[in-house]
Amino acid sequence: MSNNSHTRIDAAKTTFVFSFAQNVLQMTKVASFTFSPFSENTYVVYDDTKECIIVDPGCFDQAERDQLQAFISDNDLEPKLLLNTHCHLDHIFGNGFVSRTYNVPLITHEGELEWIEHFPERAAFFGIQNVDQSPLPDRYVDQGDTIEFGNTKLEVLFTPGHSAAHIAFYCKESNFVLAGDVLFNGSIGRVDLPGGDMKTLMTSIETRLMTLPDETTVYAGHMSRTTIGQERKSNPYWLAWKDGSLI
Ligand SMILES: [Zn+2]
Ligand SMILES: [Zn+2]
Repeated sequence: MSNNSHTRIDAAKTTFVFSFAQNVLQMTKVASFTFSPFSENTYVVYDDTKECIIVDPGCFDQAERDQLQAFISDNDLEPKLLLNTHCHLDHIFGNGFVSRTYNVPLITHEGELEWIEHFPERAAFFGIQNVDQSPLPDRYVDQGDTIEFGNTKLEVLFTPGHSAAHIAFYCKESNFVLAGDVLFNGSIGRVDLPGGDMKTLMTSIETRLMTLPDETTVYAGHMSRTTIGQERKSNPYWLAWKDGSLI
């Protein structure tokens, strides 16, 4: 009797360890880099297939381009896609480099196209001359679309308000969202650029981000990572929006 029950327990433990190890192997990983005078976060997302995507490459000079390239080659990653959450200049400084180096298609929302078209003169407005122009998008996505690479699926969330057609990328299986400039650790994206609007931004946060589980890690376009639960509890803009005092 006692021998039998031991056997059963051991078998159950073995199964548990095996399935746990499988889950660990299937986790999608996110590497972050902070680039440019705008301290913009660039992300490389990859899984155990070694396929990866590059999200919002903000590499500004050769040293930053080298850093991104070294990470990809040191980890034997194979870039498949280039994604932009939105096309403000700090998020697309490296689009040209990534596109040329890895020959990957650019995916974003159609409503962000005008930021790419006006990239050189808007960068000049910030005192930045001779930018490396971004290619035009190869594919447009919208709310509810799925982007796939390796074993990873990302759901597209339409999150306007910081820019007119901002999108975020949600990975349900690995509990994270690449949130661009919508929701930051203790803050939110600015709304004073063309296409920005506070009510639209807060509605995006309420309907697209605060509906995600508390344990979802938020990888944002600026500042350190956070979680939906932490921002739900303590983000001052969110709390003010909820009690009606923000706008
Ligand atoms: Zn932005
Ligand atoms: Zn930004």
